[in-house]
Amino acid sequence: MSTTNTSSPPKLRIAVIGAGPAGLGAAIEFAKLPFVDVRVYEQARELREIGAGISIQQNTWRMLDVFGVYDNVDPKDLFRPVDGHAVQHRNGRTGELLLSKGQKDTPPRYLHARALRSVLQKALLRGVDKSKLRLSSRLVEVVQLPSGAFFLRFEDGHTDEVDLLVGADGVRSVVRQFVYPDHRLKYIGTTAYRALADARDILSIPGIPDSVTFWHGPADRLYTCNLNNNVYEIAARVPQTDDTAPVSWGQDASVEEFSWRYRVFSPALQSVLEKIKEVKKFALFSGPRLSRVISHGSIALIGDASHPLSGAFGAGAGFALEDVYVLTRAVKWAHDRGLPISDGLELFDRVRVPHYAAMYEILDGYSKSDVSVKETDGFDEAVSVIVANKWDDDHGWLYRYDVEEVWRKTQEAEDARLAEVEQRSSSLLSTERDLIPGSR
Ligand SMILES: Cc1cc2nc3c(=O)[nH]c(=O)nc-3n(C[C@H](O)[C@H](O)[C@H](O)COP(=O)(O)OP(=O)(O)OC[C@H]3O[C@@H](n4cnc5c(N)ncnc54)[C@H](O)[C@@H]3O)c2cc1C
Repeated sequence: MSTTNTSSPPKLRIAVIGAGPAGLGAAIEFAKLPFVDVRVYEQARELREIGAGISIQQNTWRMLDVFGVYDNVDPKDLFRPVDGHAVQHRNGRTGELLLSKGQKDTPPRYLHARALRSVLQKALLRGVDKSKLRLSSRLVEVVQLPSGAFFLRFEDGHTDEVDLLVGADGVRSVVRQFVYPDHRLKYIGTTAYRALADARDILSIPGIPDSVTFWHGPADRLYTCNLNNNVYEIAARVPQTDDTAPVSWGQDASVEEFSWRYRVFSPALQSVLEKIKEVKKFALFSGPRLSRVISHGSIALIGDASHPLSGAFGAGAGFALEDVYVLTRAVKWAHDRGLPISDGLELFDRVRVPHYAAMYEILDGYSKSDVSVKETDGFDEAVSVIVANKWDDDHGWLYRYDVEEVWRKTQEAEDARLAEVEQRSSSLLSTERDLIPGSR
């Protein structure tokens, strides 16, 4: 801890690396702890979100509410279908509706919404004390000092020394590389395409509903939805051939290289593709699950740095904010009890690692169901199998996950365990005293 001020207790110096959803959330929540001095380092020169649309799921809304930034989102910047569905699945050839996922138990405040990614980023950014955010600061070196503190060096020569290092630096995390030098990311052989069009152009096409829709074919699928403010998104994850090199994040693509796969889809969808104004592509990387998301006594990994899942489940921002919730409560928990911060980090790890393990398990199940799809023939038959096997499962609990409750129970259990240890050691002490003649 820093020793700059002799009149008040030294503050816990925290560096958060990265200002994506995880880093911005951490900036908001750590700033609420009076015993903390937090700074956020971001490599980008300015904060601007690329990548078109994002799903704001129930768990993401819940965290925005807890962090006090829910109302920073203007409802005019969100798309929510009028009938309240979260997502629909249709046959890409016939347009037939095969499955519509409702949200009947979701509080209206937390209904799934689609928006431009910048909407979420701006909402978080408005809650951040900008004096704590240093841009153009790419972390290049981490050294743990004999004191246990961390020396940080940035590309521009800036240095810092902190007591707690939070890696919120995304899928290519430098902090994770420091913790796990052998951890390797792998291109998953799939590239995400994100195309934008004018919503008015799309919604005037007969047969295109104003919904959040997956359009399925036997081998490919399209995702379409309104993002409001006359912006419409058309997206897909496209498996690449072995000889295709992964492209850099957010590279421009041509409409043709994106849309040729969907020639077997309905004429209405052909018209949608013709209206595209711009397309970008994003190579997807993932890596093995981490057995621990803490290290060195005072490093914590949050967001994509802690679980390189390549955007699976469309709720990575929500998972990142849940990480922030637990981490900040765990640090406060340790501080309030006069325990080392590492004890708090252990609790953070205990809550988050099994949660991510459950997600990796779901993904393993997905790859198994791919096998049965390959064995079927015919467009419509294959599509029915795909929707039934792969999309009618229930991983909806991920979005309903109540991280506050999980944290509360974990904390209570640990408090009870510590109280029992304390009680045992004091009764042991008094037994020892009773056994030593003349000790009373
Ligand atoms: C195709 C796709 C679709 C997705 N769709 C959704 C969706 O619909 N809903 C949803 O919730 N999530 C979605 N996700 C996931 C979501 O984008 C991520 O989970 C989320 O952005 C993770 O936030 P983060 O802060 O951990 O990482 P990031 O958003 O990646 O932010 C990391 C930040 O760290 C900075 N940084 C990196 N290295 C350094 C360094 N050395 N020094 C300083 N700064 C550094 C980066 O510049 C960046 O700003 C999707 C992801 C993909 C790939």
